[in-house]
Amino acid sequence: MIKYRLICKNCDLTFDSWFASSDEYEKLKKNKFLNCHQCNSKKIEKTLMAPGLINYSKIESSKKNPKQFYDLSKTIKEYQKFIKDNFEYVGKNFAYEARSIHYNEKKTNKGIYGTASNDEMKELRDEGVEVEIIPWLEDKNN
Ligand SMILES: [Zn+2]
Repeated sequence: MIKYRLICKNCDLTFDSWFASSDEYEKLKKNKFLNCHQCNSKKIEKTLMAPGLINYSKIESSKKNPKQFYDLSKTIKEYQKFIKDNFEYVGKNFAYEARSIHYNEKKTNKGIYGTASNDEMKELRDEGVEVEIIPWLEDKNN
């Protein structure tokens, strides 16, 4: 058995039909035994098979993810630029500098950014220091 998706050239109706073989389809068509369910026209043709459409949609969905990643990395890069322009880089002294600011031992108008370990971040939060972990993409131009 073989399934064909057929289209009526007269009214554009599409419908699925089963045939014993492709030869049977050709024979029925030649003898004009195929007719449209809707308008009874004999102008029936095969259309593209459904699996072609399924493959197409798979390609479409797999294309989406790199785009989403691209948008995300673009957002992170813009965020990084904002931070670089407005915050002071303190590198690995981040925990020390963050405490200095928090306990008002150091006056600064600028926020700071740098690197800290997970333990340091946890300790700072426990002490009530406002710290945020942000995703950071290494800039290869630096
Ligand atoms: Zn029709």
